[in-house]
Amino acid sequence: NEVLRLAGVCKAYDVGTPVENEVLHAIDLRLDRGTFASLTGPSGSGKSTLLNLIGLLDTPTSGELFVLERPTRAMDDQERTDLRGGTIGLVFQFHHLIQAFSVLDNVLMPLMIRQGRPTAAMIDRARGLLAAVGLAALASRRPNELSGGQQQRVAIARALVSEPVLLLADEPTGNLDTVSADEVFELFRRFNAEHDCAVLIVTHDPRISARCDRVIELVDGHIVRDEAKR
Ligand code: ADP
Ligand code: ADP
Repeated sequence: NEVLRLAGVCKAYDVGTPVENEVLHAIDLRLDRGTFASLTGPSGSGKSTLLNLIGLLDTPTSGELFVLERPTRAMDDQERTDLRGGTIGLVFQFHHLIQAFSVLDNVLMPLMIRQGRPTAAMIDRARGLLAAVGLAALASRRPNELSGGQQQRVAIARALVSEPVLLLADEPTGNLDTVSADEVFELFRRFNAEHDCAVLIVTHDPRISARCDRVIELVDGHIVRDEAKR
């Protein structure tokens, strides 16, 4: 059932220099299948640092991080990249859509990176996901022709295309109006329910946090609260 586990994870920046600064202190955390959690905490508390570690974009200074019970410390870049595009889906704050490509091609991108030329099955899957996020009619548009909420939904479809078991999102509703934010939130909910994947949403928005099943709060690099509501 375990999707992700952190055991005594520390992260320091500028290691070995006079300004060495440990910003995460011995973090223990476990996320199981079906988890729907928010990660909150004040600015500078270490949320982005933790998300980068969990997303395998950075490595702990000490401690170990397990993905599907496999230790990640010894993995090479290729293994990390494979996990990131497959087992772990990421939705970044500024969604990083490629403006030169259509919406459909943006969603196909993770599959193309892993499997090469898109097959009919890959295109079907991408179109199915665009339909699921309510954007079927906009598949051939460029991202910059879409609203902020629509672009965020494209980024979610892209993160879901490789059927991740862990979905990470950094302030996914940050710059959206309330209605768009609710729509985006409902998509995470639905994917969590339908696919039993673990979802971790970094958010400053108490409205979003209140609607998650579990709230994890970081202060000064320590988990000060980890509360399951159901
Ligand atoms: P949050 O996402 O909660 O705002 P961060 O993880 O961005 O927190 O930052 C935690 C601490 O780590 C802050 O003190 C920040 O200044 C520091 N920090 C973040 N990134 C770096 C970096 N690349 N180099 C040095 N210090 C960093
Ligand atoms: P189509 O009817 O166009 O074939 P489907 O509904 O069968 O579209 O979906 C295509 C793909 O998208 C499938 O692989 C399915 O697993 C996936 N999919 C559809 N809806 C969702 C959803 N809400 N969350 C995640 N994946 C979805």
